[in-house]
Amino acid sequence: MGLAKSLWTTPQEHLRAHTPQNPVLYFAPTALQDAAQRILRGFPGLVTYAVKANPDDMVIENLAAAGVRGFDVASPAEIALVRRLVPGAAMHYNNPVRSRAEIAAGVAAGVCSWSVDSHSELAKLAAQVPGGAEIAVRFKLPVAGAAYDFGAKFGAAPEAAVTLLAEVARLGFTPSLTFHPGTQCTEPTAWAAYVDAAADIARRAGVRLARLNVGGGFPSHRRTGAPPALEPLFEAIAQSARAAFGARMPALVCEPGRAMVADSVTLATRVRAIRDDAAVFLNDGLYGALAESALVGMPERISVLAPSGAPRRGPARPRIVFGPTCDSVDRLPGEVALPADTAEEDFVLFHGAGAYSTVTATRFNGFGALDFATVRRLA
Ligand SMILES: *Cc1c(COP(=O)(O)O)cnc(C)c1O
Repeated sequence: MGLAKSLWTTPQEHLRAHTPQNPVLYFAPTALQDAAQRILRGFPGLVTYAVKANPDDMVIENLAAAGVRGFDVASPAEIALVRRLVPGAAMHYNNPVRSRAEIAAGVAAGVCSWSVDSHSELAKLAAQVPGGAEIAVRFKLPVAGAAYDFGAKFGAAPEAAVTLLAEVARLGFTPSLTFHPGTQCTEPTAWAAYVDAAADIARRAGVRLARLNVGGGFPSHRRTGAPPALEPLFEAIAQSARAAFGARMPALVCEPGRAMVADSVTLATRVRAIRDDAAVFLNDGLYGALAESALVGMPERISVLAPSGAPRRGPARPRIVFGPTCDSVDRLPGEVALPADTAEEDFVLFHGAGAYSTVTATRFNGFGALDFATVRRLA
């Protein structure tokens, strides 16, 4: 997220001082380290970070400082990033489709674990990856509970996973299984169903799993009220694994992205115009740091500040909210409840904006320049 020129106490302090025209992402390193340490303490196995959620240098460095020693990477660029910032870290290359050149880059960089969901891609790995390396078969189930379906692109059906897993073991690789229940998943039963299916796949393949990677998908604080508790999800995973595997319990791995990084960032946008007292036009939208709202829905934790920094306290009024570009899809989903006294030049703050925000932002139509500031705390 760029170089921080100074450390601010809160976003409000910076907004009052600068009244910025660009959207600003406020990053609180202490919030990130707290989230990481909570996951490291609570998860019953190895915690890796899914780099794609937010690959900013400051994020990776703060996670390393908090004790994260494993990273889920999906491309040579993510591999190079982790190598540069956390040289000794374990890299799990869990994008199950790779070109031969990408596999070679992973091998050269010392990737220790690979995922696969098809025979054609396993053959490519087998030709290039040193024997004994971990290959985790990615499988999928039709289970609900997440904000959107991660099984639409990757993952073998359970029957196919059985033959793939047996083949991984036959080829002399370390056999494991992996899945992703879908992002922002709040249902412990989703993980339990996957863990049960993993035990069944391993049994049918006649393979003892080295590790079971239970994916990311852990929820961040997107709705008003208390943040979602991760500990009950961790407990459900541990319990279902003990019950399903018994004495053949594999080591557990997780790869959170969103739950690790989302709540350490607040995005401050600005009201460019309120057209005839109706639609609100912000300086950021679907082509910027709010892109994923179209996929996973609007986050509920929004607050509005006057340019002075004073909070707007009017009753909630649902509004159509557009981003700055001339494209008509550049509209936040549904209607967004904003205080009735929201005015031009106000700041609209989206809390919990650290995941899938900066990394997918574009400069479409000349908008999308983002500013960054580091804060001690977010409120
Ligand atoms: C995106 C991704 C993750 C992280 O998912 P979150 O929902 O952000 O936790 C983890 N593993 C894989 C393989 C992914 O593609």
